[in-house]
Order: sequence, then structure tokens, then C-alpha cells
Amino acid sequence: PVYLDYPATTPCDPRVVDAMLPFFSATAANPHNRNHAPGRAAAAAIERARAEVAALIAARPAEILFTSGATEANNLALKGVARARAARGRHIVTVATEHASVLEPLEALAREGWSVTVLPVDAGGRVDPDRLARELRPDTVLVSVMAVNNEIGVIQPLGPIGTLCRARGILFHSDAAQAAGRMPLDVDALELDLASVSAHKLYGPPGVGALYVRSATASDLKPLMEGGGQERGLRPGTLPTPLIVGFGQAAALAAAALPTETAEVGRLTQRLWQGLSRAVPGLRRNGDPAHVAPGLLSLTFPGIDATELMEALPELALSSGAACQAESGLPSPVLTALGLDPVAAQATLRLGLGRFTTGAEIDRAVAAIARAAAALA
Ligand code: PLP
Repeated sequence: PVYLDYPATTPCDPRVVDAMLPFFSATAANPHNRNHAPGRAAAAAIERARAEVAALIAARPAEILFTSGATEANNLALKGVARARAARGRHIVTVATEHASVLEPLEALAREGWSVTVLPVDAGGRVDPDRLARELRPDTVLVSVMAVNNEIGVIQPLGPIGTLCRARGILFHSDAAQAAGRMPLDVDALELDLASVSAHKLYGPPGVGALYVRSATASDLKPLMEGGGQERGLRPGTLPTPLIVGFGQAAALAAAALPTETAEVGRLTQRLWQGLSRAVPGLRRNGDPAHVAPGLLSLTFPGIDATELMEALPELALSSGAACQAESGLPSPVLTALGLDPVAAQATLRLGLGRFTTGAEIDRAVAAIARAAAALA
């Protein structure tokens, strides 16, 4: 089938697989054992990868902590900062359209006594920095706003929010899982203190990610686990050398490809949107198109059930929303936050394009979706 589910996960780039393979067997060694040459070689490979991941977001290598993915990075950032700063204040601000791996840890903190403000978004999916400023209080210790939304692709105004937080001594975290590798990200320019990334969203392997922690912020973070002291005690556990090497290679490839790949994916996304909007009467695009990252189209097909539409399209691999939401059967909270009613949310498909998408695939997808939508209308 034509793969149009890149926001859920990206296929591992073959060059990434090649870079990883030796570290599974031939040169496998515990990178924390510096007594022998293979251990030191594994450690060196990890440090190279750390520098590659850091470079992707304009950070310093020492500011990258490897985790099992963005879910763990988000949990570590939110719970880690909340617990380290509890004496200073217990108020956290976030946004309604965040991923479950941000909202759920914050709900857990709320049950433990923290006060959490969840800001609404406008009809285009964006949070208003002025509105956010009004919610900041003397006891606010952390603000968490995602860079790019996984269901609608909307880019949040991180720069102005970073400036607001920095001026007040509030730490600023962003879940950048959908942004890293897809658009330029500079943690200094955005005044970010913490940022979460995931390898399997940027053509790396699943099961590895990173939390960026600004050096001045490290003392404001408590680990989630105790163990052997790896990653400066903030994320103990033997580092998975093959996964980290793959992550580093994926980050280096993404950084090198960024401008050309973004332009090409943007062109294909436009071709898909134009083809479908001509073919499907009343088709609506969700999210403010002026602020949507290339490669994502959230489309509402009026009067059509998205589940039935997907079932009528076995030749396409796509999704009706966040992959993790698909099983609950509830309307997507992201689409609901945009103001879609449950019927419109249930009529919505997410199409995600990426590095390996071709023009021929887009044309096949347009024809297939147009045919299926006409049959169901
Ligand atoms: N945050 C966002 C915005 C995502 O899209 C995802 C993807 O599932 C995650 C976090 C979780 O990432 P991971 O699968 O690396 O835990």
C-alpha cells in the first residue's frame, strides 16, 4: 500500500540501518565499560551520535539525555522539573492539543496536588501567547507547548512563549517529536529549556529518543528512576548503542536533507490537497494552513464516516487521527479543541507524507480517495 502515515512513524532509512548493524554483533560492547577497546569504541560512537542529535536542534552535546523515546522524555521533563521545583511553586501551564504523553503526566501531577492550566487553541489550532501570558502566576514553574501537532500539523508560536517564560524565570519545555527533522529548530533562538525528540519520527529506529536539557536547567530536574548513574544520573540504564547510533545517523541525515526535503514534501502535500479539494465536494482542511508543517493534511469529508472511508481504501496506509487514539473510539480531543463537533471529527482523516513519498503515489492516493469518497457520499 501507499504509506501515508509518516506522523505515526517513519520507515527507518536504509542508511540508518547500515550504520546500526555492526553495533548489534561484531562490535557489541557495553559502552559504560571503559576497560577494553570495544567498550571505548561503543562509548565513542554514542558520543558521536550525541553530537549529531545536538546539532539537529542547535544544542550542545552535553545537553542531550538519551531516553526510550519522546514519551519518556516528556514524562522526565514534566515530572522531573515539577518535583525538583516543588518548593518554588506548583503551577504548570500547557495546551489542550498536546500529545497524551504530555497531558497524562500532567494529570498525574494534578492528582498529586499540582495545579495545571490547560489553555485552549483558536479555530486554526494555535495557542495565543498573550492569553498564555495572562495565565502565568508567581508560582508557575513550567510551561509546556508542543512544536508541531501530530494530528493537524499546526506549528505553535514557541518563540514569543520562550521570551515570556525566560523573562519570568519559568522553565519552558516543548514536545518537538513531530518537528525535529521536519523544520529547523534552534533551542537558543526559541529560548527552550527542555525539548523532547524521538528517533522513529525522523527515519531512525523506534525505542530511542532524547530530552534536551539546557545546562543551566540540569539542577532543576529529578530523575524518574534510580540505577547505575548513567546520563549523569538523570536517566540511568545501559545505553542501547545500536539504537543511539541509528538515531545519530538519522539526525545527521535529516539535518543535511532539511531544506530540500521540506520543499519537496511541501510540494507533494500541496499536490495532494489540490487534487482532493477539486475531487471531493465540501472537503475541509483543519489547522491554519499558514502555520502547518509540510507533510501533514487533516481533512474533514462532510457526511462521510472516516472509519468507513479508511476501510474502503485498503491500498492506502493512513490514519483517522493519532495512532494511540484510534482504539478508544472517542472523538479526537485535538479536533474537539479546534471546535469540530463529534460528527465532523468522525469524518476526519490524517494524511502524512515524508521522505519516501513520490508524486506517483500522491496521484494514486488522490484517485483512490476521490473514488471511495464519491461511493460513500
Ligand atoms: N509526542 C508527539 C507529538 C508524538 O507525535 C508522539 C508519537 O507518538 C510522541 C510524543 C511519542 O513518541 P514516542 O513514540 O517516541 O514515545
